[in-house]
Amino acid sequence: MRLFTTIAGLRCHLERHRTQKTVGLVPTMGALHPGHLTLIERARRENAIVVVSIFVNPLQFGPGEDLQQYPRQLEEDQRFCQQAGVDVIFAPTAVELYGDDPSDSDILTEFTQVQPPPAMTSILCGHSRPGHFQGVATVVTKLLNLVQPDRAYFGQKDAQQLAIIRRLVADLNIPVTIVSCSIAREPSGLAYSSRNQYLTPAQKAQAPILYKGLQNAQNVFQAGERDRTSLIAAVTSELSWIEEIQVEYIELVHPTTLIPLEQVEDQGLLAIAARLGSTRLIDNSLLRNRRPIIAIDGPAGAGKSTVTRLVAQQLGLMYLDTGAMYRAVTWRVLQAGIDFTDEPAIAELVSQCQISLISSGSQPQSLRVWIDGKEVTQAIRSLDVTANVSAIAALPVVRHELVKQQQRWASKGGVVAEGRDIGTHVFPDAELKIFLTASVQERARRRLQDLQGEDQGTVSLEQLEADIQLRDQRDSTRTLAPLRQAADAIEINTDGFTIPEVTDKIISLYHKKASSLHQG
Ligand code: AMP
Repeated sequence: MRLFTTIAGLRCHLERHRTQKTVGLVPTMGALHPGHLTLIERARRENAIVVVSIFVNPLQFGPGEDLQQYPRQLEEDQRFCQQAGVDVIFAPTAVELYGDDPSDSDILTEFTQVQPPPAMTSILCGHSRPGHFQGVATVVTKLLNLVQPDRAYFGQKDAQQLAIIRRLVADLNIPVTIVSCSIAREPSGLAYSSRNQYLTPAQKAQAPILYKGLQNAQNVFQAGERDRTSLIAAVTSELSWIEEIQVEYIELVHPTTLIPLEQVEDQGLLAIAARLGSTRLIDNSLLRNRRPIIAIDGPAGAGKSTVTRLVAQQLGLMYLDTGAMYRAVTWRVLQAGIDFTDEPAIAELVSQCQISLISSGSQPQSLRVWIDGKEVTQAIRSLDVTANVSAIAALPVVRHELVKQQQRWASKGGVVAEGRDIGTHVFPDAELKIFLTASVQERARRRLQDLQGEDQGTVSLEQLEADIQLRDQRDSTRTLAPLRQAADAIEINTDGFTIPEVTDKIISLYHKKASSLHQG
């Protein structure tokens, strides 16, 4: 692991090491705890190089806030990062980052700053922390420019910050994927925070009441309550048990736009800020009213597509046939006569194309596919499309655009999809993630049976095993959409099980999950 305190050192290191490798950035203010660890671990799983920045950013602290007091423990943080498998720590001084000492000069007025939309910065924490999100947006923009990561990781714990950064990156066309990680909590329910260090033992015992209040609202929500006043009251009633809690706000907003909500339609963010003594704590809970998303990943030949279709059919969910989408795009590229090496022309075409998938029954053949107003249900199964679809699907731009479309399709839930990275990349917040696998021997045996059924049984079992092993190796190491098991995926080994048995297992997992969500 390397530590850099200068921009020059960081840049030089990244220039030398990043060739063809993905970089994940985890921006922090240090005093690292298990909440940060979830971000780092996720970044470790998804990138070749992990950079953690540690910087207590003076721009985001207001007068009278805890800038001086904020815990600084670089040596401990270094050990923490080393153990977590971090490659690079970037820990600059304020002078290095802003060219001036913030305590000597008024950098607030002398430095270019990034101003997110006022509607997003003036509510929730914005009331008591004017200028805070401008400071956050400015430092995050600088860090993104300096590290140029493929992905940057932020915690759902700071939900307002996350929404603002997502907007910032979209509005300013910053080429990075923002990945959000769910809130890590102590066994008591208290969300981990560097500021928990300020709490006395007595306050630490009281602090989990924030989570209890949110849980109470979550239960009320799951029981059908959608109204702002009642949901907020569910939090307040719990908090009233502890006199020492001074509530700053309890708000219900839309998680993406941060617009206050009177009613939760598909989703809401219930957010709270409160003080215990002089320590300010924040916490939140996502209230989701959408139908579930089930993501099924796994190696080739584990039976994913058949099982996925059956699960969709039996639960009455839509089978999001991502393969059909790639085929439709391939058909469109072929039809337009674009050379496959002309990626920019393909990018233009794909980013404007409109794909519709409409299922008119439960059978696979009942899925009808349109692209740009033309029905291509039959055409996408042609030999020409089959021969070219993998070349087209291998283009990063095609994948990027289609993942966006898939996410739009599933924004209201009610979808089952399968692939190699559906649970890790396409739908990281899917309600149920399954990693369907089978031993190489079993998959080879199934393949041989299929080939014999098709009268093509000349390949040996050993050869098929070797092919499958090679394919697994290629699929899990490819840069584009590598096969990965999400940390929260349930692995099902299908060796010795029939397709209906596996389907039943997924359906029962789904019902179990749905009832646990109901119980909050
Ligand atoms: P901070 O060091 O407090 O600025 O936090 C750095 C990143 O870690 C931010 O993206 C936070 O949202 C995230 N983070 C902090 N605490 C937690 C937690 N308990 N669970 C998940 N993410 C967290």
